[in-house]
Amino acid sequence: TSARPKLLLTGPIMEAVVERQLEQHFTLLGPDNFEAIIAAEGAEIRGLATKGKMRVDGALMDRLPNLEIVSNFGVGYDTVDAAAAAERKIIVTNTPDVLNEEVADLAVGLLLATVRELPQADAYVRAGKWLKGPYPLSATLRDRKVGIVGMGRIGKAIAKRLEAFGLPIVYHTRRAQPDVPFQHYDNLIAMAKDVDTLVLILPGGAATRNLVNAEVLEALGPRGILVNVARGTVVDEPALLKALQDKTILAAGLDVFVDEPRVPEAFFALNNVVLLPHAGSATHHTREGMGQLVVDNLVSWFAGKGPVTPVGETPWPK
Ligand code: NDP
Repeated sequence: TSARPKLLLTGPIMEAVVERQLEQHFTLLGPDNFEAIIAAEGAEIRGLATKGKMRVDGALMDRLPNLEIVSNFGVGYDTVDAAAAAERKIIVTNTPDVLNEEVADLAVGLLLATVRELPQADAYVRAGKWLKGPYPLSATLRDRKVGIVGMGRIGKAIAKRLEAFGLPIVYHTRRAQPDVPFQHYDNLIAMAKDVDTLVLILPGGAATRNLVNAEVLEALGPRGILVNVARGTVVDEPALLKALQDKTILAAGLDVFVDEPRVPEAFFALNNVVLLPHAGSATHHTREGMGQLVVDNLVSWFAGKGPVTPVGETPWPK
């Protein structure tokens, strides 16, 4: 075995600075010829760095019998089967905290863009339509009550911003948090009935699939604004499309979709939706911080110092 552990990449590596650091510590394999590499040297691969869409499931782990760690670029790790990893004593790490403020900024920006129709208004000016008359009046944030679904690291950063905006805030999670000053709802439908604005910032995966369904949208009602910066899978996408078409809710701001980068084309025809290309953490500053944490987790692990930011399912400390 070589001195430098073999690290398999599931996709193009993040930032150049990250790749340079990884090259110093590891023999990098993939993402080209992924299958052939696994067939030829699967048993020598000790680490995996992953980003984005490829599923890292138990079947893949079984083809890498000496895999010790999966380092995920992103705080959301719904593409990694962390339970299957734990069964196999494989460490999974993610990139929490370094992106909280960035994603919260984007969430609030998307909320404002959706309520005040900023992209639509921009298009109006560019098309020369202002010369023919003023842009129609929009909805407002001023009379809104916001329900945040997910009150973790990023949810709290969003709440802090919206508090400064003077908006009443409530939240839905599975467990109430005694240290959070906002009203907690056990039941999402009950909360959707009591608010007119929902901001989604919780993990994707099986446990949250289609959590926001037709019934929740109905409860949100005709003044309703939905902002999704969580994962596309959290929303029943066809039900949302229909709710926007039928004006069951007023508008939506979406950063995430079920089958990215394929956005259902029917959304493009709607004027009451703002669409972003999964841009929550997408700045040079924050992507670098995330990349550094991907590197730090791998380097720390192979230096015998343990993972820096293991996910909840990873039993650590052992
Ligand atoms: P945290 O783990 O800190 O918080 C997650 C929150 O979601 C907790 O409050 C948790 O509370 C709640 N939650 C989890 N499961 C459920 C459920 N089934 N029903 C209701 N609430 C639930 O995560 P972060 O704040 O760091 O990140 C949240 C998510 O945001 C990520 O997992 C990722 O998917 C997404 N994200 C999206 C980005 C983008 O670019 N658009 C960028 C970064 C993150 P409880 O356990 O009590 O239910």
